[in-house]
Amino acid sequence: MYSNKSDKTKYVFVTGGVASSLGKGIISSSLARLLLARGYSVAIQKMDPYINIDPGTLNPYEHGECYVTEDGVETDLDLGHYERFTSIPTSSANTVTTGKIYYSVINKERNGDYQGKTVQVIPHITDEIKRRIQLLGKSKKYDVVITEIGGTVGDIESLPYIEAARQLRYELGVQNTAFLHLTLIPYMAASGELKTKPTQHSVKQLLEYGVQPDVLVLRTEQPLGNDIRKKVALFCNVDQEAVVESVDVPTIYEVPLKMHAQRLDEVILQKLGLPIKESNLTEWRQFVERVKNSTKVIDIALVGKYVELPDAYKSISESFVHAGAVNDVKVKLHFVAAEKVTAESVQEMLGGMHGVLIGPGMGQRGVEGKMVACEYARTNNVPLLGICMGMQCAVIEFARNVLGYADADTKEHNPLTKHPVIDIMDSEKSGFERGETMRLGAFGCQLTKGSKIHSVYGEELISERHRHRYEFNNEYFDEFAAAGLRPVGVNPESGLVEAVELDGHPWYIAVQYHPEYKSNVEHPHPLFVNFVKAAIEFEGK
Ligand code: GLN
Repeated sequence: MYSNKSDKTKYVFVTGGVASSLGKGIISSSLARLLLARGYSVAIQKMDPYINIDPGTLNPYEHGECYVTEDGVETDLDLGHYERFTSIPTSSANTVTTGKIYYSVINKERNGDYQGKTVQVIPHITDEIKRRIQLLGKSKKYDVVITEIGGTVGDIESLPYIEAARQLRYELGVQNTAFLHLTLIPYMAASGELKTKPTQHSVKQLLEYGVQPDVLVLRTEQPLGNDIRKKVALFCNVDQEAVVESVDVPTIYEVPLKMHAQRLDEVILQKLGLPIKESNLTEWRQFVERVKNSTKVIDIALVGKYVELPDAYKSISESFVHAGAVNDVKVKLHFVAAEKVTAESVQEMLGGMHGVLIGPGMGQRGVEGKMVACEYARTNNVPLLGICMGMQCAVIEFARNVLGYADADTKEHNPLTKHPVIDIMDSEKSGFERGETMRLGAFGCQLTKGSKIHSVYGEELISERHRHRYEFNNEYFDEFAAAGLRPVGVNPESGLVEAVELDGHPWYIAVQYHPEYKSNVEHPHPLFVNFVKAAIEFEGK
């Protein structure tokens, strides 16, 4: 396997123009996958130009899902794509926001580090951006670091990032960097024409900033002819072979294959002066074939708060794509509005489903509906997977309807309840008092031998990522176990309950952690794979 580890790390910058949401994250991930397939070690990082420190406090309506890394950083959902495409865990070094940059510069200023100098966007902010960009490269673990610059070229707020990348190109040497610019070629239905002018303008804007892109990826609904490529190449000073189209495809996982067919990886490697080694995409291809060709449909309800916003559950939806492929089925995810699920409506809303996933969530909206859904799945033998708030709802529902504690609740929503089956545990209070806001990141979990979840994982000691504040209240541990909702996963250090399962039910497992953050194409998550399997069995009955 080729490696230039002793040499310099090469940097690829990915920018976007014309419109937002063109899929820079998917293009960056696809390029990483292609370079990995040729034996290079690759990391991807995201520069987000907003002033929030992280998306943890951002409303999902603004930013979709909040993704959590192993080391407990709340990040943009693009990091989820990076992991799903590359199988490489991300960390705090893979995510930067303008808020983080300013925060550290201001702290240094308060500390007197600038020794009385005027602190300015250039060079202080750009220096801090450059330092962060190179953090991963300096670890010497990677041949290539791909840096995705959020926002659209021309935005005031992304300018310092483009400027930092421009400076780096000259500091590191032109042969050690490449700029990939993603733009849109709109199709005018009225005249039946594809239009290149917005792309030309966007490249001109980049040139104004001193950046000549090396590769253009053109997002388009219609395949581009050679004439369009020629025209774009000519107007934008780019080789014709470096003009690559990205046509809409049925699954995002096909994008690397489309890019490979147009030799995007070779063009980038040539630009970086790296040898073009043989590419192995066999398993990726097989996965894409299974995603595209499986015809049997399995209906799974995702009972959650943000039904009109599928991006809020991005990692869950993608986990079902991975798990569907393993089981040779297409999982059709039905987003069910939790607050509309009532004792009267539940049969109609969940009746045709082969499995029910109770989604995570903050706040009170929809929790009663989630509990009705739990009761429905529990009493009708429908496979159920509860995640985070989903587990808490399964626990509360069981306490109310089986243990007979009518007022059982979580302290989060009912601080006065006499039966706080979900509470903040003493072991955690000190951390929260120190200002930690949540239990975040990877924690170990010991699974009970002989439990269903143990057989699902096939191992006893697992590690999963968390993002929550409240916990199963261990004072009720024995009572739940005796009544049949058994705590079957416990954190070995703190004793906190991480998983419960229902005795005598074909498949009813709820977990306090987020398995969806760890499912990727190479390693589909066993809980999702097994849950889909149970749904297939339920459908066959
Ligand atoms: N609101 C719950 C808690 O903080 C659950 C959080 C979640 O589902 N991510 O414990």
